[in-house]
Amino acid sequence: MTLLHGSCLCGGVAFRAPTPSLWVAHCHCSMCRRAHGAPVVTWVGLRAASVQIDDGGEHLTWYASSPGAERGFCSRCGSPMFFRAERWPGELHIARALFQGEVDRAPQLHVFWDTHVDWLALGEDGLKRVGDPKD
Ligand SMILES: [Zn+2]
Ligand SMILES: [Zn+2]
Repeated sequence: MTLLHGSCLCGGVAFRAPTPSLWVAHCHCSMCRRAHGAPVVTWVGLRAASVQIDDGGEHLTWYASSPGAERGFCSRCGSPMFFRAERWPGELHIARALFQGEVDRAPQLHVFWDTHVDWLALGEDGLKRVGDPKD
């Protein structure tokens, strides 16, 4: 077991989580795209109960982005950070780019590939490209 850790841009919201993570995946859905202002968002899935979030009690804000789903961001620097949804009970998803250093697994999958942008060329990485991972 090692402790994964990271933070938002300003450092106002930090997190710690013990390995193992549950999964790591690249998400190409349009909601992630808009929420992060990025063509693709790589997420690390973790057991929500194992994640410790330290925000000094004021910077972490949750936005209900769709029914049953919320996105957490730092209200000071604006970094999009977390995702949680009734559809993924017990899980907290944290943006991979916010982690300091290594995570215990490499990305395993591209999800919502059916809605990926055509203005970023992604090389063949050998990973499976699927639509909704729960279908
Ligand atoms: Zn911040
Ligand atoms: Zn997404």
